[in-house]
Amino acid sequence: MDVFGLVGNPVGHSLSPPMHEAAYDELAIDARYVTFEPAPDELEAAIRGADALGVCGLNVTIPFKQDALEVVAADELARRIGAVNTIDFSGDEPTGHNTDAVGALRALRDHDVTLEGADAVVVGAGGAGRAIAFGLADADASVTIANRTPSKAHALAEEVPGAVGQGLEGLEDLLADADVLVNATSVGMEEDATPVPAEALHGELAVLDAVYRPLETRLLREAASVGATTVDGAWMLLYQGVEALELWTDRDAPVDAMNEALRSRL
Ligand code: NAP
Repeated sequence: MDVFGLVGNPVGHSLSPPMHEAAYDELAIDARYVTFEPAPDELEAAIRGADALGVCGLNVTIPFKQDALEVVAADELARRIGAVNTIDFSGDEPTGHNTDAVGALRALRDHDVTLEGADAVVVGAGGAGRAIAFGLADADASVTIANRTPSKAHALAEEVPGAVGQGLEGLEDLLADADVLVNATSVGMEEDATPVPAEALHGELAVLDAVYRPLETRLLREAASVGATTVDGAWMLLYQGVEALELWTDRDAPVDAMNEALRSRL
């Protein structure tokens, strides 16, 4: 039996096990997906141990995504983003990848959103914002990063090709000409709040909210009410998992089965 898993702390509420195990069932792969919670200073030992035990692949989540970069040989995108969320053990040494960026791009493209040449606004400059900003720039979108703490937006914009950074002011003007809006902040998770004023939204926008609990955030509700294309955070979560599975197995992921397993638990 093949073993895959998730390393994080905490991981108790993760939706990855049912999502990946639905794929193993569909593809008739004899495998399990288990969660691991190493102590904060035990990440390297955990990864080396998993390698020695023949674990096939690991996802990595908070608080280990940045530290994992120091432990495995990371690919170029993961190094630029500064975080590893997927480790592959099939080669001579463990390799690190970041499927969050591609996950967000696939979520948008799956909803017929054109990214090449698009004007994209990413609100948030934390871990999710970094991955999404690099992904959008790689897809040839023009990226503006707006963040509550402007200095973090400026610092990230320095790293992302062609990007511009700013605070949260002036979103209405900025979004008037934009094609894509991504909420990469945690706003909307704890309460019915939004980082973007409703007046700034319009029907020509495609709006991706990285928040997936709840699925319908206030931002998405207000975006839908003006006719914008809306993409909830479960699509991003789904496609980062799809990308990881395809990397580990070299097979096309059964997207519908994974999506159903995920959404039935949200
Ligand atoms: P993070 O690194 O802690 O970054 C949090 C971001 O939210 C920062 O930009 C922060 O701004 C901003 N923020 C927090 N509270 C705010 C407020 N009250 N007003 C305005 N901005 C606020 O977190 P993360 O890992 O990037 O995660 C962000 C969200 O994305 C979470 O909801 C997470 O669940 C979600 N996520 C989803 C997926 C997916 O697959 N769907 C993947 C990863 C993350 P400051 O810099 O000013 O503090």
